[in-house]
Amino acid sequence: MIEERFDAIVVGAGMAGNAAALTMAKRGMKVLQLERGEYPGSKNVQGAILYADMMEKLVPEFREEAPLERHLVEQRFWMMDDRSHVGMHYRSDDFNEERPNRYTIIRAQFDKWFSSKVREAGATVLCETTVTELVRDDRERIVGVRTDRRDGEIRADVVVLAEGVNGLLGTRAGLRSRPKPDNVALAVKEMHFLPRETIEARFNLKGDEGVVIEAAGTISRGMTGMGFIYANKECISLGIGCLVADFQRTAQTPYGMLDHFKQHPSVAPLIAGSEVKEYAAHLIPEGGYKAIPQLYGEGWVVVGDAAQLNNAIHREGSNLAMTSGRIAAEAIAKVKSRREPMTATNLSLYKKMLDESFVIKDLKKYKDMPMLMHTYSQNFFLTYPQLISKALQNFVRVDGTPKVEKEKATLKSFVKARSWTGLFADACRFTRAWR
Ligand SMILES: Cc1cc2nc3c(=O)[nH]c(=O)nc-3n(C[C@H](O)[C@H](O)[C@H](O)COP(=O)(O)OP(=O)(O)OC[C@H]3O[C@@H](n4cnc5c(N)ncnc54)[C@H](O)[C@@H]3O)c2cc1C
Repeated sequence: MIEERFDAIVVGAGMAGNAAALTMAKRGMKVLQLERGEYPGSKNVQGAILYADMMEKLVPEFREEAPLERHLVEQRFWMMDDRSHVGMHYRSDDFNEERPNRYTIIRAQFDKWFSSKVREAGATVLCETTVTELVRDDRERIVGVRTDRRDGEIRADVVVLAEGVNGLLGTRAGLRSRPKPDNVALAVKEMHFLPRETIEARFNLKGDEGVVIEAAGTISRGMTGMGFIYANKECISLGIGCLVADFQRTAQTPYGMLDHFKQHPSVAPLIAGSEVKEYAAHLIPEGGYKAIPQLYGEGWVVVGDAAQLNNAIHREGSNLAMTSGRIAAEAIAKVKSRREPMTATNLSLYKKMLDESFVIKDLKKYKDMPMLMHTYSQNFFLTYPQLISKALQNFVRVDGTPKVEKEKATLKSFVKARSWTGLFADACRFTRAWR
C-alpha cells in the first residue's frame, strides 16, 4: 500500500474527471487523478463539440490556450430518407462573436491540454494506471482504490468516479447496476482528412468558422439513432450511433450503418477524396433522467458519463460531464472546509447542487423521450422521414398535377401509413414527452 494519503482520488481523466480534479486542486486539496490511458484523451471518443460556457467556468482563459478547431456559426438538422434529406439550417453571423459559444475539438489533443491545467493546479496525475477495485473499510465505507501497479492500494477521504459510460468499477462495487442495452448507444466515428480550403468550400465557411450537421431518419434503418458530421480545420468527423438494444434485435452492424451513411447522396460529396486516418467506437449513455444511478454514498461520488448524465436529445454530454465534475468537487470542498467527514449525508450536497443546475433540469424535462424514441423507433426513424420527404418532393415537383390533388395525396399517404388515430397518438405522445 502507498503510505501517502490524499484528500481525494479521481478515477479517469476525461471531461468529468479533469473538471473535478482541477476544481479540488484549485481549492488547495491534495488530489490524485488516475487514468488508465497512455495519456489523458488517448482512450476518449467524442464528436466533438465543446461548450464554451462550461469550460470557461473551469479555465476562463481557455480560448487563448486550448487546442480548438473551429467555432460554430451554423447548425444543420437533416431528416433523411435513402435518397433525400429535409433540412433545417440555422446560421448566424452573431456566432462570430469575440467569445464564441461552441467549438469543434479533437479530444486526444484537448484532453492532454486540459490535463496540463490539472497538473498546474497542483494535482498529481498518474497515467497508465488502471483502478481495479474500490477499497472499503470494515464499515463498508469507500476509503480508497486498488490499482494495477505494484503496491497499488491508495487511500483518500473521498473517491470521485469519473470512469466513463461503462462504469465497471462502480458496477463491480455494487454502487450501480450495469447500463441496460436500451439505455446506451454504440457509436462509430471516422476522421476524414481533406485540405482546409476544400472543407471551407464544401461547407461554405471562411476562416475558423465551423458547422455541424445532425442527421436522423432511414440512415438508422428504423433503429433509435443519429448521425453527425462536424467540420474541423483539416478533417471532418463523421459518425453514427444507435441503441445497443436495437443492434441486438436486428442484424445490423455499426460499421455497416456508417458505410450506409457515408454513401448517402447528401453525405458522399462532403467527404469525397478524403483520407480516413482514424476509426473509433464508443458507448454513449442515452437513458436520460430515469437511468441516473445513485450519485453519492459513503466516501464516493459519481460524475459524467459514469453517472449516465447525457442529454441525447440535444447531443450534449461533455458539458454535463464538466458541470457534474465541477459541482461534485465544489460540494466535496465545502464538506472539507467544514472539517466534516465524507459521509453519504454530507456528500448529498452534490446531488442537491446538481438538482439545481441545468444538468438535472434538462434531463428531467426529457425524462420520457428516450423510452418514446425507443418504443416507436420505426415510426420516428423510418416511417415519418419517408413520408415527409415524399410530401416535400410532391410539393416542389412541378408536373401539372393540381395543388389540391397533391395535398390530398400527401394527406392520404400519412393516413394510410399511420391511420388517423395513429397520427393523433404519435403527436400527443411526442408533445407530452417534449414538454
Ligand atoms: C461518438 C461520440 C460523439 C460524441 N459527441 C459529443 C459532442 O459532440 N459533444 C458532447 O458534449 N458530447 C459528445 N459525446 C459525449 C461525450 O464524449 C461524453 O459525454 C464525455 O466524454 C463524458 O466525459 P467523462 O469524463 O464522463 O467520460 P470519458 O470522457 O469517457 O472519460 C473517462 C475516462 O476514465 C478513464 N477510465 C475508465 N476506467 C478507468 C479505470 N478503471 N482506471 C483509470 N481510468 C479509467 C478512461 O480511460 C477515460 O479517460 C460524444 C460521445 C461519443 C461516443
